[in-house]
This record gives sequence, C-alpha cells and structure tokens, in this order.
Amino acid sequence: MGDSAEMIFSGDELLRGDTTNTNQLYLGERLLDLGIFTTRALSVTDDLETMVAVVRDSLARRPVVLVLSGGLGPTEDDLTREAVAEALGRPLEHHDELLEQIRARFASRGFVMGDSNRKQALIPRGSSAIPPTGTAPGFYVQHDRTLLVALPGVAWELRQMWEETVEPLLKVRRARQAIESVSNAQVVRRIRTFGIGESALAEILADLDWHDPEATIGTRAHLDGVTVILRGPASTEAKRKLDSVQQQVLAALGDRVYGDNGEELPEIAGRLLRAAGLTVAVAESCTGGLLGKKFTDVAGSSDYFLGGVTAYDDRVKTQVLDVPADVLAEKGAVSEEVAAAMAEGVTRLLGTDCALSTTGVAGPAGGTEAKPVGLVYIGSVVKGVTLVEQIRLPGQRDQVRERAAYAALDLLRRRLRREVPAG
Ligand code: ATP
Ligand code: MG
Repeated sequence: MGDSAEMIFSGDELLRGDTTNTNQLYLGERLLDLGIFTTRALSVTDDLETMVAVVRDSLARRPVVLVLSGGLGPTEDDLTREAVAEALGRPLEHHDELLEQIRARFASRGFVMGDSNRKQALIPRGSSAIPPTGTAPGFYVQHDRTLLVALPGVAWELRQMWEETVEPLLKVRRARQAIESVSNAQVVRRIRTFGIGESALAEILADLDWHDPEATIGTRAHLDGVTVILRGPASTEAKRKLDSVQQQVLAALGDRVYGDNGEELPEIAGRLLRAAGLTVAVAESCTGGLLGKKFTDVAGSSDYFLGGVTAYDDRVKTQVLDVPADVLAEKGAVSEEVAAAMAEGVTRLLGTDCALSTTGVAGPAGGTEAKPVGLVYIGSVVKGVTLVEQIRLPGQRDQVRERAAYAALDLLRRRLRREVPAG
C-alpha cells in the first residue's frame, strides 16, 4: 500500500447541500498524481469541539498528509486555526508579516482591511504560513509523520496554494523518501478517450495482456469522455509494465485517445487549429452557445475562434445561415442535411477555414421514435470538406448538451489530426 492522505472539510454549507465539495475531487486527483491515496475524507459542521475531535482522530492514524479545507476566514464560524492549535496542543501566534500581506491584498483591490481580519494573522506555533491568494492565508505544520495543511475553502484560492506551495513541498518529500524506500511510491497514468462507452472500453481493456497483482487498470466516465487510469508501484520493473500496457491501450483505441497529459479537448482543438493556421466558427442549435463557450474558455482562443451563430429557431437557420427551407421542411431540423448546411452556412458567413455545427434532441420532451432524445448531428467543415456524424448521447438535457459540445470538439480534433498536416 502506498502512503495515505486524509481530508477534513469544514463548512455547514457543504452539509446543507448549498456547496458542492469540488475541493475533494480536486485534491483527490492531485494527491493520486503524487502517488498518495486518500483513505478518508470527512465533512464537518463549523463547531470547535467537533473540529478538534476529527483532527485528533485523523492525526492518530498517522497519514502522510492531512488536508483541511475551509474555515480560515475572518468570521465567527471560521475555526480551523483554533481547532488545529488545540488538537496539536500548541498556542496560536500572531505573525506581523502575515497581517501585512493580508492588508496588502485588500489594498490592491481598493479596500481597507477590517479589524476582524486580524485574527487571520494567527497560526499555530511551529507552523509555516502560506501567503493569501485571495484574502485568507493558509498554513502547514509537520506533526510526527503527518504534514498537516490548512487551506481556504474558496476553490481557486485552495488550488493556487496547493499547486504553488503544497505540491512542491510534497514532491521534495517524496524524492527524499524514494531514496529510503522505493516500494512505497505509486505511478499513475491517465489516458483520455472520447467516443467509447465505459463498458465497451472495459471489454477492450479486459483483453489486454495485463498480469500484475500490484497494478490496476480502471476507467472513469466524465462528460468529456472516459479516462483510463493505470496505476502501479513506481519501481523500474513496474514502470516498464505500465509503459507496455499504455502502448497496448493506445494501439487498441487508436484515434479515440485524445490525450495523456491533462490537456482538455478545447485546448487540443485550439492547439491543432493554431498549428495549422486555421480559423473556426460555430453554428449551434441544441448546444445554444455552449460550444462557443468551450472554445473561448481557452485563453488566446481569439487566434483561431472567430465567433458563432446560435441558430435555435428555424428562421435563424434559414435567414442567417442559408439553410434551404425545403431541406428543413423535408428532413427536419435534427438531420444530417441541416447539420451540414449549418456548418457550411457559418463558414460562408464568417469566412473561416473550418466550422462546427450541432443540432439534436436534448430533451426531456421532443423525442420521437425516429428522433429520440439524445440524437445529435454534429456537422463539420474542414478546408471546404463537409462531414457529419450522427451520435446518440445518454443523460438528461444538460448532459446531452455538454456531451454534444465535446463531441463537436472531438470531431474537429480527429479531422485536423487526419486531414491537416501538422503546421
Ligand atoms: P473565506 O475567507 O473566503 O471565508 P474560508 O477558508 O473561511 O475562506 P469557507 O468560509 O469555509 O472558507 O468557505 C468559503 C467559500 O468557499 C464557501 O462559501 C464555499 O462557496 C466555498 N467552499 C468551501 N468549502 C468548499 C469545498 N470543499 N469545495 C468547494 N467550495 C468550497
Ligand atoms: Mg469563511
């Protein structure tokens, strides 16, 4: 077994269901990338006694990392500092430079720091402060075998501190530890795929030559595809096996694989467009702007993404995109012909090299036997050549729309890989 991590999330809002615990998903994945399993994650109410008890309880199990999230703000219900101090039996100490950093964060946004923020400059004796990324500072402290890390609840603040401060710290420790005992560390490989269901993927993976009791292969489904996760001990021998299995997976899945380095579909499509010096536009019906949103989620996308038309009503399809009215009447809006005409129309309208279109039945109503909920046509134009794919997507309205947007990006990715020589 590798080293284990534990997490404690403080916040009534998590327990009441007001806030989704995205921090847990984030931390779980980042820790696993470092080869550290999370064996326990707990959400607790903002109450000092409860907090102290769960921190003590966790420390007694001696995990290598204990991450606390939330409760570092200036208000009455922010009790993490006090709870950790009490659990460790150390007093809270005031840090002048921390107070100055907090004051500076306020000043940089044109605010004056309030008196209540003073208590944020307190951290348990012997701990190191993590400077605020928002307004709440974090801290970390070594206790016995455990690195205890306290981070703010606000997701982006937590992520920035994790990546800039905590991860480098853990990496140094792991490197040191690796010299002492190689056997503890774990390697993880993630292979991102699109267009194959989880069960079909499981069947393909079951056929691979994979015999290692210590290593595992698993899948996880997301709206932007299924990720294959290979995991094994970090010995040279095991790494070689992992490499071999990775090669087998890549060979078996072909162009269904879109990445293995954390790059997302919108980034990949954008990178390929930029490399080839091509521009793209979108014509969206069932995705209603989501596809354009995904393109523009990527900083610098104005280099290749020109814009789009949300052609929800048939009149917009005919009047703005020049979809022939007789085709619409004969084939219906959700059809291969209309998807093709939409993509071609928007290329003409905006003068781009490439285009994508979406038209489908997102549900919950509007499905028929011939055109059920989840039926989507993705149109594409790449350098004058039109190609349409018909897909059936599972899920409710939101999921169908999200998946349709990713399917469009993936179609463009596959076509650019195939048809456009790398620039
Ligand atoms: P602040 O100074 O901003 O109050 P804090 O450390 O006190 O920082 P909390 O008050 O616990 O953090 O949470 C602040 C906000 O962060 C919450 O309103 C919630 O929206 C969000 N948040 C808290 N915990 C989580 C979590 N586990 N996952 C995602 N978001 C969270
Ligand atoms: Mg708070």
